[in-house]
Amino acid sequence: MSIPNGHEPSTFAMHSPVLVLNQNYEPLNVCTIKRAIVLVFNRKAEVLEAGQGAVRSATRDFDAPSVIRLYRFIRRPRVRVKLTRREIFTRDNYVCQYCGVPGGDLTVDHVIPRSRGGQHTWDNVVTACRPCNHRKGGKTLQEAKLRLSREPAEPSAGRYYVIERRVRQPYAAGWLPFLPGLEASAHQFVPNGSSD
Ligand SMILES: [Zn+2]
Repeated sequence: MSIPNGHEPSTFAMHSPVLVLNQNYEPLNVCTIKRAIVLVFNRKAEVLEAGQGAVRSATRDFDAPSVIRLYRFIRRPRVRVKLTRREIFTRDNYVCQYCGVPGGDLTVDHVIPRSRGGQHTWDNVVTACRPCNHRKGGKTLQEAKLRLSREPAEPSAGRYYVIERRVRQPYAAGWLPFLPGLEASAHQFVPNGSSD
C-alpha cells in the first residue's frame, strides 16, 4: 500500500493496537494498524471490526481495522509466563507464602538462598512479606523454621496473557466481544489485608 504525501496518517494511528484472532477466532496477538493493513491487503486476514478512524491509501479512504482474523490457522509454541516480580505476585495471589498475609509490602524470596546456589527460577521464588523475608534472610526453610503454604511452580499462561502483556486495559470496546471471559482472567490485586 502506498500513502501519498500529505495524506500520511498520524504515526499514533498507524501504531495503534489491532487485535489479531486466529483462524478459529481465538485471540492470538496484537499488531499495529499498519501491519494489519498489510495482512488484509495481502489477503492473509479479514477485518472483523473497524472504527479507529480513517486511513487513506492512494486510491481510497477506509476505516482502520480494530480486530482482524487470520485466514490460516497458526499453531503456536506454548507460551511461557515471564519470570517477573509482578508475575510471581500474581501466581501467589499477592499472599505471603510463609505466613499467609495478603497484600502489603511484598518481596520476592528465594527459597534456597542465592548465596547457597539457589536459582532464580519459578520453583525457587515465592512471594514473601517483609517480616518473613527478613526472618528467612540467607537461611534455608529448616534453618529459618518456616514452611511454605504450597510448592512453587511455573504458572501456566492465562488465555489472554500475550495480549495483556502487549496492551494495557481498558481495551477498545470493539475488542470485547472477541475476548470472552476477560473479566475473570484479569489480574486482581488484593489490597492490604488485615493482619492479626
Ligand atoms: Zn509473611
